Amino acid sequence: MYNVLIVKYGEIGVKGKNRYIFENKLIKNIKNMLKPIGTFKVYKEYGRIYVDLEDYEYEEVIEEVKKVFGIVGVCPGVRAEKDYDKLKELALKMLEEKIEEGAKSFKVESRRGDKSFRLTSQEMSLDIGGYLVSQVKDRIKVDVRNPEIKIKCELRESHIMVYSDTVPGYGGLPLGTNGKAMSLLSGGIDSPVATWMVAKRGMEIEAIHFHSYPFTSEKSQEKVRDLAKILSKYCGRIKLHKVNIVEIQKAIGLNCREEETTIISRRFMMRIAQRVAEKRFCDALVTGESIGQVASQTIQGLTCTNASVTLPVFRPLIAMDKSDIVSLAEKIGTFETSIIPEEDCCSVFSPKKPVTKPRLERIEKSETELDVEKLIQDAIDNIEVEDIEF
Ligand code: ATP
Ligand code: MG
Repeated sequence: MYNVLIVKYGEIGVKGKNRYIFENKLIKNIKNMLKPIGTFKVYKEYGRIYVDLEDYEYEEVIEEVKKVFGIVGVCPGVRAEKDYDKLKELALKMLEEKIEEGAKSFKVESRRGDKSFRLTSQEMSLDIGGYLVSQVKDRIKVDVRNPEIKIKCELRESHIMVYSDTVPGYGGLPLGTNGKAMSLLSGGIDSPVATWMVAKRGMEIEAIHFHSYPFTSEKSQEKVRDLAKILSKYCGRIKLHKVNIVEIQKAIGLNCREEETTIISRRFMMRIAQRVAEKRFCDALVTGESIGQVASQTIQGLTCTNASVTLPVFRPLIAMDKSDIVSLAEKIGTFETSIIPEEDCCSVFSPKKPVTKPRLERIEKSETELDVEKLIQDAIDNIEVEDIEF
């Protein structure tokens, strides 16, 4: 029955000139999201966005469209050539379907886009409602105050449309309306979820990954690339900065206490991420840290990590339980890739017994044994950059 989707989006940040930019971005993002299914006609009309369904299953298409940030709902609808009697017929067909699904009460809501039409919107509702009641008799009752379902009828300049249900979207804010963040992307479960959450609030994303090639494999970098690719479905193109930190890890291993190696390498990652972020005009860093999840994420560990940088660090998972993070990872589609077993740079050089309550003064003292500036600069000089697009 359905041949079109009506996309509803939030009004925040889409006033005036921004609206035009936002809608075009939204259209591009919807097309991108639908790429794995097929090529769709996505277009703007009368201040709304539509997706033509062609012969595709509407459920399958909605499932993808609703993931686009900034979309609050998607309605499957029927669109046809302008013809008022046909409109009534389609409304009846939709109502019959709703009755079959068990609906007990309804109301008609109409919109007259074609101002030359003889009936006003209100009159249309009365007329169509009356017709529907005469056809379905007492199989369903009218309830204008609190109807279980609404049959929405529109008569436009060139076409008619009927729809009823709204499938909720993920919400969020239009991409690129809130600056840019540099996300520390590992191959784990957490950082892709953290990245997604920040992007959902309208931040553009760049990613930085630290590896210890040749101690970590090519494959482990492939995995991060795959994760970035899944994320780019939501966030648009992602610039991925890949940093080799083998020399840093060796220097730490030679000069610092074994139990401090993780926390000190983490501080190096943050410093490097900040340098790259500033060069790329990013406003914040993002990590997938969560209080107490591992030894380096105790409050003392987080304090030491945090103290290595001045940019704001966003940790959207900070108070989330692992099981909730996993559910979200499954929902956004990164989980399957994240759990592929690959060596991470942290696991390669990780101490047997890491400190769980590092003291900042002690860590800073240990770092005086290192030529921090040179190590950072050498790592930055060898960064490789890739553009990842879905
Ligand atoms: P994740 O699942 O995101 O890897 P985790 O639970 O394994 O997180 P840690 O390994 O302690 O936790 O890492 C904490 C955070 O530090 C990560 O969420 C990520 O933001 C950042 N991070 C860790 N390792 C790397 C890496 N190799 N490259 C980039 N960022 C990293
Ligand atoms: Mg990790």
